Amino acid sequence: MIQDANDIVRGAVIHADVCIVGGGPAGITLAITLAQSGRNILLLESGDLVPGEDARALNAGEVADETLHSPPDKYRERCLGGATSIWGGRCVPFDPIDFETRPWIDHSGWPIGYDDVEPYYAAANILCEAGEFEYDARLAAPGGMRPLLRGFTPEHFDTNGIERFSCPTNFGRRYEPRLRALNNVRVLLRATAIRLRAAGDGSRIESLEVCGTRESRFSVTADQFVLAAGGMETPRLMLSSDDVQPNGIGNAHDLVGRYYMCHVAGTIGSLHVSGPADQVWHGYDLAPDGTYCRRRISLRADVQARLGLGNAVFRLHHPRIGDPSHRTGPLSAIFLAQKLISYEYAKRLVSDVPPTPGIWLRHGLNAAIDAISTIRFLGHMVRDRLLAERKFPSIIIRPRTNRFSLDFHAEQVPNPDSRITLGSSKDRFGNRQVRIDWHYTRKDIETVSQSFYLLRRDIRKQAIGELTFAS
Ligand SMILES: Cc1cc2nc3c(=O)[nH]c(=O)nc-3n(C[C@H](O)[C@H](O)[C@H](O)COP(=O)(O)OP(=O)(O)OC[C@H]3O[C@@H](n4cnc5c(N)ncnc54)[C@H](O)[C@@H]3O)c2cc1C
Repeated sequence: MIQDANDIVRGAVIHADVCIVGGGPAGITLAITLAQSGRNILLLESGDLVPGEDARALNAGEVADETLHSPPDKYRERCLGGATSIWGGRCVPFDPIDFETRPWIDHSGWPIGYDDVEPYYAAANILCEAGEFEYDARLAAPGGMRPLLRGFTPEHFDTNGIERFSCPTNFGRRYEPRLRALNNVRVLLRATAIRLRAAGDGSRIESLEVCGTRESRFSVTADQFVLAAGGMETPRLMLSSDDVQPNGIGNAHDLVGRYYMCHVAGTIGSLHVSGPADQVWHGYDLAPDGTYCRRRISLRADVQARLGLGNAVFRLHHPRIGDPSHRTGPLSAIFLAQKLISYEYAKRLVSDVPPTPGIWLRHGLNAAIDAISTIRFLGHMVRDRLLAERKFPSIIIRPRTNRFSLDFHAEQVPNPDSRITLGSSKDRFGNRQVRIDWHYTRKDIETVSQSFYLLRRDIRKQAIGELTFAS
């Protein structure tokens, strides 16, 4: 059943066996799964069925350095489905090494290992609509998937790992009917959890204070509370709940909000392939179940251990969009349409060149001169992305010059100084907004740069082409 929190009588106390805060993919998955136990589940979602300005305003906050991290209301959404209402849908399991205590990485090591999460991956893949749990390119399709760089057998990297892509499934839209149909699950929309009330000795949560959008305020009691409000709002709620424990709930060791991780990702260089153009396959393959899959170049675990590096992957991409010297109409069309692209994606696509009138003109000329490919590309985007239920995951354009951008995505080492705290401004419920202070470290840079030089060495050794560094 799905209800509006504004219909709850002011001052009411609602009881549930389990109360889940946050209707993102974590909260929805938990509600649907726990429903099978017969317990009464209450799922509180701050937003509505779809994103809206009022809910988005609650995501506002401060950023210590905007050149490092986007403002928190620019790329997050509050609605049923959480960030899956805007996510890219890329699905990849962790590697076993990611969980291990690695002497060369301070604060590394989880209290759980890969074997603890592995049994859940197949079900997670199904929920994400990312096909079967098979991430080896040799096994994910009959006869294997096409090689990324034909004839390339690198010494330090694995090229058989793949990423699988969800539709991308919006968990809110996809699982709303199922949540409605479950008798023992009650979803309250526009229900913002604002404070956990702890027992006097701080040993347990007695109740949760919740606000609707129209002055309605009520409490929830539950045998168990689950905080699934996302990586920023969960620590914010814990830190804001300071009535009994002045540093916030569960924060006796000053760890809540620390070790905040974001993406260490970007374009690091370009690969000029010396062989024929069809030696490279940087696009997608279809698995038999219809899932789009893509190979990537991953730094092997034994190499990470031997050289004291973190985990890192590389992908080949089209040239940088903002620079019109690529002379590729479809890429220039994307540059010209940047206002139609959501903030986070537009920022990544076009941030490398200042958009002066001269640059706009050159992109306009590219699109006009290369009109046939541009029109063909726009048709593909409308058919395979805009209108398709399972969307073509990204822009794949074969550059005329055989020169590809090299994108990286690296692990970030746990850093206690990268943290979420409470800022000075307050939201409409009187709670302090988040403050984000994100940093990368020398080790993060070392992982990316050393991996790049290793890849360059492997590529040179096999005469595949020339990899150049782009700052
Ligand atoms: C632009 C973008 C692209 C992404 N692309 C990918 C990708 O390709 N692959 C990938 O694996 N991941 C991707 N992610 C990350 C992925 O979407 C998140 O890891 C995932 O959604 C986290 O799920 P969650 O349920 O923990 O939190 P969220 O999705 O953040 O959901 C939390 C929910 O809690 C609600 N909430 C917050 N505060 C409260 C409160 N106080 N009371 C009640 N409810 C509250 C929110 O409204 C939200 O619905 C992307 C994220 C973004 C923003």
